This record gives sequence, C-alpha cells and structure tokens, in this order.
Amino acid sequence: MTVSTTLADTISGRVLVGDDIPVAYRADRSGNRPDGEPRVLIIAANVDDVRRAVSFAADAGLSVVVRGAGTGLAGGASAGTGSMVLDVSRLDRILEISPTDELAVVEAGVSAAVLDDAARRHGLRYAPDPASAAISTIGGNIATNAGGLRCVKYGVTGDSVLGLNVVLADGRLLTTGRRTVKGVAGFDLTSLFTGSEGTLGVIVSATVRLQPLPVRTVTIAAHFDDVEAAASAASAVLAARVRPAMLELLDAASVREAQDFLGVRTDAAGAFIVAQTDGFGAEAEAEVVAATFREFTSRLTVGADAATADELLAVRRAALPALQRHGRVLIEDIAVPRSRIADAVRRITEIADRHASRIFTFGHAGDGNLHPIIVIPEHDDAAVERAEAAADAIFSTALDLGGTITAEHGVGVLKRRWLERELGPDSVEIQRRVRDALDPGGLFNPGKVL
Ligand SMILES: Cc1cc2nc3c(=O)[nH]c(=O)nc-3n(C[C@H](O)[C@H](O)[C@H](O)COP(=O)(O)OP(=O)(O)OC[C@H]3O[C@@H](n4cnc5c(N)ncnc54)[C@H](O)[C@@H]3O)c2cc1C
Repeated sequence: MTVSTTLADTISGRVLVGDDIPVAYRADRSGNRPDGEPRVLIIAANVDDVRRAVSFAADAGLSVVVRGAGTGLAGGASAGTGSMVLDVSRLDRILEISPTDELAVVEAGVSAAVLDDAARRHGLRYAPDPASAAISTIGGNIATNAGGLRCVKYGVTGDSVLGLNVVLADGRLLTTGRRTVKGVAGFDLTSLFTGSEGTLGVIVSATVRLQPLPVRTVTIAAHFDDVEAAASAASAVLAARVRPAMLELLDAASVREAQDFLGVRTDAAGAFIVAQTDGFGAEAEAEVVAATFREFTSRLTVGADAATADELLAVRRAALPALQRHGRVLIEDIAVPRSRIADAVRRITEIADRHASRIFTFGHAGDGNLHPIIVIPEHDDAAVERAEAAADAIFSTALDLGGTITAEHGVGVLKRRWLERELGPDSVEIQRRVRDALDPGGLFNPGKVL
C-alpha cells in the first residue's frame, strides 16, 4: 500500500503508518488490545479528511476504528490487524452557541467540559457530565450515549442531542435531526447513531441542547454503616418524589482508596453518598433528601459550601483511578431498577465472597447504575479466572433484577458475548440487519458490539 502517494497528499491532518503509529492507539482505557497492529492512523483535521479516509479504507480493504479520546471502557476504540484508526479529536471547534435557542453546534472532538465552560458565559450549561468530561470527546460521548453524575435529573447524553452530521460508509455526509426541541418527521436517526459505538458511521458534529444554569445548588453528604444501608437510602430518596440533580454512592472500601489516592485525610468512615439538589427549589428538595437519609444514618452534612462540594465530588471522581493502581481492573457497568439497588449491592458482596475476588462498588445510584470494579493482581492467572466468573455472576444478577449489562460504557468488545442474553435473538438479528443496511461492507468496527 503506497499510503504516502494515495492518501497522505490528500489529507490535511496527519497520516502515520506501521511502526510510526503510537502504541496507545491500539487500546482504549479498558486495556483491551486486539491481535496485531493497525495499518494506518489518520488524525483528521476536518470533515473532508474524514470522508477521504473512509473512502480510502473501503478501497484498501481496511476496517475503520473511529477514535475520540480513547477513554472508552469497553474496547470500542481498540484497533488491531487490518484496521485504520480514524482519530477525530482534532475536529474541536465550537461552531455556534445560541443563547436564545439554548443550543450549541460543536465538532465531535470538543470535550463536554469545554462546551460546558463556554455555555456558562451565557448563563447556560451542557448538562451531560461523564466523570471523564474533561478527557473525553463529545463525539465519543454520543457514540457511547454516555451517562454522568447529573443524569438522574438531566438525562443521558442522548437526551441532549438534537441532531448530528455523520460520515457514512459510502462517504456521504448525512444530516439527522433538527434545531427544534420537538420534531417527529421520519424515523429518529439521531437516536440510532447515538450509542452506536462507531459501528454505523463517523459523527463529525452535533447540535446539542443547553440548559439554564441552576440558580443554586445544595450538596448533601452522608456516611452509612454499610453499602446496603446506603443503597436503601438512595432508593428511598428516589421514592420520595424529589428529583436530586446528583446521587452518587461509594462503598466504604472505594471511599478509602479514593481518599488515599487524593491524599485527603478524614475521620469519615463507612459507605458514602453525595447528593445535590439544584434550581429554585434546591433547599426544599435538600430538606426532603436529608430527612430521608436520616432514616438510615445520623452522619450527614447539608448545604456544603462550593469548595467542600468540589472536594466531595473529587473523591467520587478519583475512585476509578485509585483502584487502577492495584493491578488490572474489570470495570462493570450494570444498572438495575432503582427499587433494587440494595438487592444488587448485597448480591455483589455475596459474589465477591463466592469467587474470592476483590470487588469495589460505586456508581450513579440515582440511575440504579453501579460500577462493580473487580481488581485483579498482576500475574495471577487464577485470579483472572475467578474475576471472569464473578463478572458473569454480576451480569446475571443485573438481568435477574430486571436490569442491563451496560448502562453507559457500551458493549464494545468486552460485553459482546453477553449481549444476546439481555436482548434475545430477535433483537440482535434486527440490529444486525440495521447495521448491514448502513454499512454493507462491514467497514466500521467489525467484531464490536454485535
Ligand atoms: C476516569 C474515567 C471516567 C469515566 N466516567 C464515565 C462516566 O461517568 N460515564 C460514562 O458514560 N463513561 C465514563 N467513562 C468512559 C468514557 O469516558 C466514555 O465512554 C466516553 O464517552 C468515551 O469518549 P471518547 O472520546 O474517549 O471515545 P473513545 O474511547 O475514543 O471511543 C468510544 C467508542 O465510540 C466510538 N467513537 C468515538 N468517537 C466517535 C465518533 N466521532 N463517531 C462515531 N463513533 C465514535 C469509538 O469507535 C468507540 O466505539 C469514563 C472513563 C474514564 C477513563
């Protein structure tokens, strides 16, 4: 393949081949690394680069692995033999912010944190806030339909997406959706591409909703004797007919690890929930949340100032990197109906005992979304087997409780073999047909998701 003459001359961004491709492009943050190496890396500078790269890959018989920031946790952006990695993170312009229509038009490589900052100058905010908001791309967030801390009130990424521009397998640039809040003309292709994990096309830009910045925010932090009590308290808050803007839970071991990682020393012990209420009724809602927590614990603080709130949230955000220091981690991402959170954490504790595995649990309790993290010591093959059995049991538990194997990280490679268990054969077959219709040559992310 003479990439230098056939491709490099036509691409405004960068083209790297073979050994020049940095090894980091082979994996995402899940650590999943397929066999072999990608043949070409294109770092696109604009939409024309994306279209040329896709056409080149189709002609050259290469598969296309679209990559945002590579922070995915399901192996969706990992790249091996016979692939072209198409990095769209440099498409990073905010094209428009419309304060009147409360929307923004952004290229795929912009991060949620940068957009949120820009929106703040207009008294607005971009609500979806994955814990990776500063290090991931909106294109990746849309492709995985990422969740975040504020989802419990403001919805997941898809709830903020009004329209997309997508480069298809045949090189066409498709526009989906609209700038209006409502609109039902035709099938909802915006939703189809949202959460498609790089299997249907390359999202190059998006029109997204912005929300008014809340006039005030109240933070409530509570410690509980054990994680089951904390989970029961979370369910009770959700049943109390208030809508917190955040409801995050960490078991006691995760809190200790995160505090140690951050170098924060406190006497606080036990499982932990940090909740926020916001908007005009923030104080009134916070009173209901606090009263509900008091049925389960007396150790709580209400109305933490902004600096303390940031500190509490830093503990939540540090939980994953803290655990990653201890070896390989299997990051699970189940969700259960919100009335079953306590059942889920109890069963996870039993699974950890049964499979002699270290499992730390934290997550977005407000969405019933838990991240049981299985830590596997380096060079311990028996521990790997036990961890895989534990992961299998966790997925079965989620499904038994009426939940899902993945709430926000996506299927990628890692959850592929469990997908049919959740969806059933008919749904998988229909989804394969949709994928074939859009990408008949199997160009995008073969071997992933379906
Ligand atoms: C510390 C940490 C915290 C995290 N917290 C959260 C969290 O709170 N909530 C959450 O949901 N996730 C979280 N994640 C996971 C990850 O950040 C998200 O999945 C994120 O949406 C991935 O974005 P990315 O730009 O890194 O995408 P990548 O990892 O590059 O790609 C992810 C998938 O999307 C596809 N893709 C990427 N860009 C495009 C595009 N423009 N068009 C089409 N397909 C594309 C890829 O092919 C791949 O399948 C976290 C990860 C880390 C490391």
